[in-house]
Amino acid sequence: MVGLASRHLQNLSRRDFVAGAALIDGCWTAGEERDVVLDPATGEEIGDVVHCGAADMNLAIAAAERSFHDWREMLPQRRGAILRSWASLMRDHSEELAVLVTSEQGKPLAEARYEIAYGAGFLEWFAAEGERAYGETIPSHKPGSLLHVRMQPVGVAAAITPWNFPVAMMTRKAGAALAAGCPIIVKPAPETPLSALAVARLAEEAGLPRGVLQVLVGDPIELSTPLLGDTRVRALSFTGSTQVGRLLLEGAAVTVKKVSLELGGHAPFLIFDDVDLDKAVKGAMDAKFATSGQDCLAANRIYVQKGIYAPFVEAFAAAMAQLKVGHGLEPATNIGPMTKLSVANKCRAQIDDAAARGARVTTAKQDQSLGRNFVPPTLLSDVTDDMLIAREETFGPVAAVLPFDSEDEVLARANASEMGLAAYVYTDNLRRALRLSEKIECGMVGVNTASFTGPPIPFGGWKQSGIGREGSRHGIEEYMELKYVCFGDLAA
Ligand code: NAD
Repeated sequence: MVGLASRHLQNLSRRDFVAGAALIDGCWTAGEERDVVLDPATGEEIGDVVHCGAADMNLAIAAAERSFHDWREMLPQRRGAILRSWASLMRDHSEELAVLVTSEQGKPLAEARYEIAYGAGFLEWFAAEGERAYGETIPSHKPGSLLHVRMQPVGVAAAITPWNFPVAMMTRKAGAALAAGCPIIVKPAPETPLSALAVARLAEEAGLPRGVLQVLVGDPIELSTPLLGDTRVRALSFTGSTQVGRLLLEGAAVTVKKVSLELGGHAPFLIFDDVDLDKAVKGAMDAKFATSGQDCLAANRIYVQKGIYAPFVEAFAAAMAQLKVGHGLEPATNIGPMTKLSVANKCRAQIDDAAARGARVTTAKQDQSLGRNFVPPTLLSDVTDDMLIAREETFGPVAAVLPFDSEDEVLARANASEMGLAAYVYTDNLRRALRLSEKIECGMVGVNTASFTGPPIPFGGWKQSGIGREGSRHGIEEYMELKYVCFGDLAA
């Protein structure tokens, strides 16, 4: 029987979106060797893609290098116009792209639609940032001299993207690189290649010249090895696990590339007993369950002050009971499958560990027809700092709630992590909010809000959550070099 995702994909008016060809040097490359793409909800095969190897990557690097001169020389206004037109095509094809994302990634369709708009937003943002890469003039410290700092494109860039935001992570990296004047080679995650390849088709239609954007799918190590070793590749941007980020940083050290890494999170979510309970519950629900919990910003440790702890746990459990688990293409679904079985298994291991160490476990009844990639939303309360879930990122719909007494105590516990991507503070005490936003060790803080991302913000982490920033005016700097020029001997 043909599954739900296949039926939706068969109805796409853009058949080329599921062709599964790689984009190398301006050509859509088919091949004998194919990798299958699965619907994570059902395990059904929904398509296949060409399996690229190291030789293909070498061709792509050479093509990118050839395209660099003309692309960097193009006026930023013209490059910006192409990026805007690419974004506009993405918006025109939002529904088809969203179906692709949900089919291969699993997230609810409404979230996939949001991802397409979010992803297109980065192209529009960087279209304008490219026009504003001003550089500086410096008041001279030398008589008769003029001092300039220019921003210039670093060269060929590479992006290795994850499966949780297969479209937006591609455009967040590619938008910045292309606006800076750099060609970029993208290696999507093997689980979610179709949406990245479809978006690349739209880039071509928008007028991106040959070789400027290339997308290759295949074995991660086989494809990343040539990228890391080649001196023509000057910048590498990665989003994914800290473990792989470390390996790539090490590999990129050999050729001293510019590296930006957006790695794991382990966000503390602090709720003080002066807040409105309903607002705190809504914030924690949003921060925990977006992308079915497979989000680096997910609230991993929900610390609740003792004065509000019992009513919070009760209200949070009631809100969680409303979550509908199912296939992302079913309209009522809030929580889809985990994209990878390993992620679902990690959730189950954290639940077992917490239960064995004395946490209270509240789990929604699992629909037995759903497969192993599904994890029912699970509330772990009375969690203690020694439990796995308090020490490791979860990446799934498992919520850990931990009681605390004082501000100093919870700050120390929040900061006792090697991760430092995001944190959330819920309090009505303005002075406390300011103190905590200053002292929390992470790259992004939401105060009384769980919603703060978007193209204008500098997205990135401290400590082992990463290096560099994406989005904002800083994102383009990851693909640019500064050049200082001193004009001397100007006295008449
Ligand atoms: P991962 O780091 O293995 O995968 C991310 C990307 O890296 C994919 O494109 C993958 O093909 C590639 N990759 C994997 N191994 C590689 C290697 N040796 N060399 C080059 N590229 C390689 O992540 P995962 O195993 O799929 O997920 C594990 C955990 O990582 C998750 O549970 C989560 O904690 C974290 N993660 C974080 C994000 C994020 O948004 N920061 C995204 C995905 C995963």
